[in-house]
Formats: sequence, C-alpha cells, structure tokens
Amino acid sequence: MSRFEPNSFRQHFPVINNQQDQKLVYFDNGATTQKPNAVIESVSQYYQCINANVHRASHQLSAKSTLAFEKAREQVKQLINANDIKEVIWTKGTTESINLVCQSYGDSYLSAGDDIVLTYAEHHANIVPWQLLAKRVGATIKLIPLDKDGYADINCLDEVITENCKLVACTHVSNVLGKKNPIEAVIAKAKSVGAVTLIDGAQAIAHFTVDVQALDCDFYVFSAHKLYGPTGVGVLYGKRALLEKMTPYQSGGEMIKTVSFNDETTFNSLPFKFEAGTPNIAGVIAFASALEFLQPYLPSGKQSFSAYEKQLTKYCYDKLVAIDTLDMLFNSVPDIGVISFTVQGHHNHDISTALDSYGIAVRAGHHCAMPLMEYLGVSGCIRVSLSPYNSFDEVDYFIYILKSILSPAV
Ligand code: PLP
Repeated sequence: MSRFEPNSFRQHFPVINNQQDQKLVYFDNGATTQKPNAVIESVSQYYQCINANVHRASHQLSAKSTLAFEKAREQVKQLINANDIKEVIWTKGTTESINLVCQSYGDSYLSAGDDIVLTYAEHHANIVPWQLLAKRVGATIKLIPLDKDGYADINCLDEVITENCKLVACTHVSNVLGKKNPIEAVIAKAKSVGAVTLIDGAQAIAHFTVDVQALDCDFYVFSAHKLYGPTGVGVLYGKRALLEKMTPYQSGGEMIKTVSFNDETTFNSLPFKFEAGTPNIAGVIAFASALEFLQPYLPSGKQSFSAYEKQLTKYCYDKLVAIDTLDMLFNSVPDIGVISFTVQGHHNHDISTALDSYGIAVRAGHHCAMPLMEYLGVSGCIRVSLSPYNSFDEVDYFIYILKSILSPAV
C-alpha cells in the first residue's frame, strides 16, 4: 500500500489548473466531479480512432467500438460486484435509471393500496418519479424519518415498512447531509415484508466500495459524472430475475429481436432490452477510462484516497463548526466530504456569490431536496462538497474568505 498523494492526483484534472483569470477552488463535487485527462483524451481517441455504432454492423470499426463499449460494462460489473454482466444497464444517469424502474417495474407490479417507502433525505430524482407512479397506480408514499444525526432512523423501520410496502427507495448517501444511511438494515426490513429495494448510489459511488451482492438490493443506480466520468452516462444495476420479468422502458432500435406488422414484435435479451437507440458510446468508453484511472485510488485500491478524504472532511467541518454565526444542518462529521450549513443573518445565495468572486465554487439553495429543507425547517443551505483533489490549503483559503465576508473589516 503506498500513500495517496493529493498533489499528484490533482495534476490529472486540467480544469483546476487551467483557469486564466483567478484560481479555482472547486468545492461543488457533489454536483459533478471534474474530469481527469484520461477521460478527456478517451473521448477524443474514440472519435479519432474507433467511432462507429455498436452491436449493429459487421465491419471492423463497429467491432472495435462494440468491444470497447462492452468492456466498459464488464468494468462496471466488477466495480459493483454484480453477479452477471446482463445486470448492468446503461442509462443517461441516476435520474433515468430511477425512471426506468418506476415505469417498467412500478407500473406493472404496484397497484392501489400499496406503499412506496422513501426517506426524508432523498434527491428529487428519487422522489418525483415515485410520486408520479403513486398517482398513476393509486399507491401511497410513506417516509422514514431521520435520527438526530441525519441518518434514516432505523428505529422507525417497523412502523413505516409494513406488509403494504411493495417498494423501498433509499439514498445510500444524502447529497445534502453527506451521511451514509444504514441501508443494510433498510434492505433487510424491506425484504422481511417482501418489498423490492432500490438504492440511489449517486453520491456514494465515488466514496465507498459498493458490493450489490453483499447488499442484496434489487436495484442500485448511479451516474458516471459523479465518479470522474462524463455526463450523460449512468448505470442501472438490477437483479437478473427482476429485469427479466420487466417490460421494456423505451422502445425502438437495438431493444428488439424481431419487428413485424404481421406478428407480435419481440424483444432483445438483457441488457439490450432496456437500451433503445444509439447509446452514448464515447461517454461509456470514457467512463471505463475513468474507472481505470481511479482504480488505485478507490477505497479498495493500493493508493486509496479514503483516509485523506476523511481527514479533509473533518478538518473542513471542524473549521466551519468553530464559526459561531454558522448553523450546521446536523452536528456531527459527515461520512463523505459533503458539508451543509446556513449562515445567520445572510441569504445563502449572497454568501455563495460572494465566495464565487474569490474563485470558490460552492452550491447554495435546496440542492434538489426541497422536502428535506422543509423537514429541517430551512429554506435552503450552503453546501461544500470535497474531492480528494482538494487540499487543506484550499479549505484554509475558503475559511479565511468566508470569515472575511461574514465580518468585513471596518
Ligand atoms: N440522487 C442523488 C443522491 C444525487 O445527488 C443526484 C445528483 O445530484 C441524483 C440522484 C441525480 O443524478 P443525475 O442528475 O446525474 O441523474
């Protein structure tokens, strides 16, 4: 095991070093991560060397792009320890993966009187599709409250997840609170009443080892762009038996076996049944490059960034807690570098705009989690979200500027 070197890791990310006007302190990694050279070059390489549609043609160029595209699927299978490559479906992102499950599984297998269970800390992407489904089929949404530290409260599981519950959709890590939910307990409870489980891994995937077989969840979803890959690529993992019995989500080319005006149209096998139309080929292949680049740095890797991330998160959290005009949303160190707070007497957007004028990129607002804001009684908050390419010096600079904004010299 060799030590993680944040400075050499950082060198791989050109955006951070390419700002002409002023330095960039990028603390908005929860929204999207920056891309390493390996990913940027992979997109360019694809278009320069092997651009061709996948799975369709018999020519050599298509064989090359198909090979690279399917190799990426194998890499994702290994990343999350899926049992079968057919369980890895490419989508546009977490949002589309959830919509796919809602429409394909939900519309067929949920009905009036059923409960759909979520937590109060979900992103809108894991709320609104279920609300629409509930309306379509006459199901009820029930919510797991949060405990005093901002985690899904396992003491309330028996009360919320009852015999009526047919589906539980829970975020692995909240995009506002940075807390890693006790999803093992949630999944176990859901299974005990026969409910299907979907875990939103959008925020977790860049920070933790995810083993879908050990978790034994039915669906696990995430986006490549939160894991240093390109935008427009996402993953739906689903247990094969469930995916087999689900109807197609979108239809068109690629997802069919036969199409006829005389006989019934038949569908392709997994995973292609759920991949209608030309996919984001360059994006998928570049995502594989992101995974190759990241391999040594992941929690399981030889130069894992996990310990550094933890130290940086605690350092930043402690510095923020020490400012007495800030209110943290929860008073305990988050599990990933996602730290949210409000500032007494200041509007969140005024603070984020002021920070931006010093080159510090944070996010202010409801963070696509309006029900969580309502639950916590705040209109919004400021979120700092860190990556291992961020440094202690950047945290010091941020804290120095934040303090000077809050108490301008007279
Ligand atoms: N779920 C969580 C927890 C997220 O943080 C996000 C994005 O911020 C999403 C879902 C939606 O991801 P995407 O916009 O990539 O589909």
